[in-house]
Order: sequence, then structure tokens, then C-alpha cells
Amino acid sequence: MSDDLRVPLVVLRRRADPWLIRRTVKLDDLRVGEVVVADGMVKVDLEAEARNHDVVVSGQVQAKWSGSCRRCLEDVHGSLDLRIYEVLSARTEDSDTDSRRSGVELSGESGDVYPLGGDEADLEPVVRDTVLLSLPLSSLCAADCIGPDPERFPATSVSVENSLERAMPPTDPRWSALDALRLPDEPIH
Ligand SMILES: [Zn+2]
Repeated sequence: MSDDLRVPLVVLRRRADPWLIRRTVKLDDLRVGEVVVADGMVKVDLEAEARNHDVVVSGQVQAKWSGSCRRCLEDVHGSLDLRIYEVLSARTEDSDTDSRRSGVELSGESGDVYPLGGDEADLEPVVRDTVLLSLPLSSLCAADCIGPDPERFPATSVSVENSLERAMPPTDPRWSALDALRLPDEPIH
């Protein structure tokens, strides 16, 4: 939880200018597998603006991530520089038509609408989702990394083929029915 990303609605609705949030916030659990945002630090440069009953959030977030190469386990680093355009709405989805009539575009780039609390707009879920969705699912130090031991850590395409072969049933399952039938023929001791 980060209080830095909460905007009081009563203030937001009273002002003519957008509410600006330019700071670095620390968010917990910004991790996808082995890839983690360094110290959970995210630099945000956001504008929040009240539009009728909704709040529109736009701007940019930046974060550095680190992980380990999934083939050779070397450290891998990268950075994110992402644009945000999302809508927080207190209304349910079936009031979408109202918002279109009032000129508010409810669907942000991701197509999600975030819930709006009664007293404040919490931008943390917006920032969190944006970062998490952009972290690499599995990191490689280089696209052609062959790993420290190509025999044990072969390139992905090869290991997929291998695993497909392994997934094939070793024997026709119908034979196991015959095996069961053979059991009574075994000598009785
Ligand atoms: Zn590597």
C-alpha cells in the first residue's frame, strides 16, 4: 500500500487542473516469477483528473527490474518505461452507455475500468497492474544464450520437442486392458 498514490476525491473534483503525482513510490510484491522490480521502486509521473463521475489517470511509470537468465542463471537487468491511460469509475459496467453519452471514454488501453472508492482514487492498482503486465515472463541474458551446459539446458525449441516425445504414452493404453485379462492365466501358487 502506498498513500502517495491516493487522491482525495473531494479535492480532485473541486479543482480545475489535474492532480499531479511525480515521485518515486515503493510497492511490495512487484514480481513475476524470478523477475522482480528493484527494491519495488517505481517512478510515477501521473495526472489524475475528475471527469463527471470518473477519474482518468494518465502519464508514465518507470521501473528497473532484475532477474536471472532462465538458461544460464546469469543476472539480467532491464527497465520499463510505460504509458498509462486508465479510468477509475464508481459505476458498474452496465452504465457504460451513460458514460459514452457524457463523452468519457471508459475503456483505457487495457480495456479495464478500475473501481473508485467513495472518498479517494487509489492509483496503486493501476500502477501495479501496468508494471506487472510489462515484466518479462522469463528473462534471457541474450536471445541466443545457450546456457552454461547446452546438453543439460538445451535451447527452448529442442526441449519442447523432447518434452512432447516424453508426453507420448509409451504403450497403447488398450494393451493395458489385455494385460489385465492375462492376469488370471498366471499360474496359481
Ligand atoms: Zn543466459
